[in-house]
Amino acid sequence: MQLFRQKPLNLARPAALGLLLLAVACAKPAAPPSVQIAIAPAEVAPAPALPPLPPMGGDTGFQAFIRDFETTAMAAGITPDTYNRAVAGITPVPAIQTVIDNQPEFAKQVWSYLDGTVSARRVANAQLMLTRYADVLAGIESRSGVPKEILVAIWGMETDYGGSKGDYNLFATLATQAYEGPRQQYARRELLAALKLMQQENYPLSEMVSSWAGAIGQTQFMPSTFFKYATDGDGDGKVDLWNSPADALASTASLFAQEGWQAGKPWAYEVKLPKDFDFSIADLDDRKPLSDWAAMGVETAAGAALPAGDDPASLYLPAGARGPAFMLFTNFRVIMKYNNAASYALAVGMLADRMTGAKPFVAKWPRDERALSRAERNQFQNDLNSLGYDAGDTDGLLGRKTRNALKLYQKSKGFAADGFPTAALLTSLNSDASTANPRAADAAAADANGSGVGSAAR
Ligand code: CA
Repeated sequence: MQLFRQKPLNLARPAALGLLLLAVACAKPAAPPSVQIAIAPAEVAPAPALPPLPPMGGDTGFQAFIRDFETTAMAAGITPDTYNRAVAGITPVPAIQTVIDNQPEFAKQVWSYLDGTVSARRVANAQLMLTRYADVLAGIESRSGVPKEILVAIWGMETDYGGSKGDYNLFATLATQAYEGPRQQYARRELLAALKLMQQENYPLSEMVSSWAGAIGQTQFMPSTFFKYATDGDGDGKVDLWNSPADALASTASLFAQEGWQAGKPWAYEVKLPKDFDFSIADLDDRKPLSDWAAMGVETAAGAALPAGDDPASLYLPAGARGPAFMLFTNFRVIMKYNNAASYALAVGMLADRMTGAKPFVAKWPRDERALSRAERNQFQNDLNSLGYDAGDTDGLLGRKTRNALKLYQKSKGFAADGFPTAALLTSLNSDASTANPRAADAAAADANGSGVGSAAR
């Protein structure tokens, strides 16, 4: 789904790995149940009173972690009562590690992702929500400066307007990730925050459901995010992100406002590039004053001059030179604070624009470009590296380093240097790599074929 490597931490929640849920089907089997041995109490002095241990679940190591972590929780001000209620009966969630470990077999093309996320149904439901919550949204917008359409777009993207808040036990999913895996430290902090949340807000345990990642409520806050941004939107004196859309929307607006949303400014808009444009300068992380872009011949999609001004803007080509081009502004980066993926921010902005009747983009997506398999993405990186371009580690994630290496290769071939990986480019790379280094290229191709078959078979 994501075109770019995700950073592990976000303000609202970790990287969107929704597509990775597809990998749940190949979850590792659960560990065999541990055996509890009943030991007859020794007939000596009665033991000092200890808090009851949680029931043993399916993983001895996990249950030992739960017991050990209590010390950490106590040090953070969690009472034994809160702790024992929160962890009572929880067992590791076996699918999670697989979800985290597995990349999707096919990187979804951005237009397919947008087709799914900015669907006609979701836009129609957004209109219903704008009407149903008109007063609430007007109040939040006037206080925060964040447009109601952006807030409703987040709501739609995150949970389909509250319809899919996740049904994981918040404590089980965070404890599983705190116990093992690549996000332990992060998950431990979030687990402590979740415990604090339960203790401070006195939520019923049964209501504290989350996504697999531990994001909660209608707009999917991470527990730690709650303490920085959550706010009471409906004025009943409590913050309930699960059951009160007003609270969830006001809290999301609070996050956006605190993270620098610029009221009255655009998030992005489509632009038209001049002939013979050097596509290699398109880079999300390279900001120039809007007037610089205008001086380079960038125009609005309709072919008019860009608005005057020096707002910092980046040029974004989500599908390379053959697709739409966008000027991105500060507000786009604020959306990315919610979920650190440019494609996510694009979807949120598009959804918001569609609510106000925006027309589809002028430029068409290059829908004939097929998605690349993981083996092909790996081979992309291997080929670039073997040709002397530094594409970074072979991780199948075609991030900035790989894109920059690809731009250099494209330049060397006289192609449009947009850094967008295509099947045709891979063919060209394979050919050049095998000419330059026949044996290494054969081995890489054999590897790619081998893992491709294995992945498809799972
Ligand atoms: Ca409330």
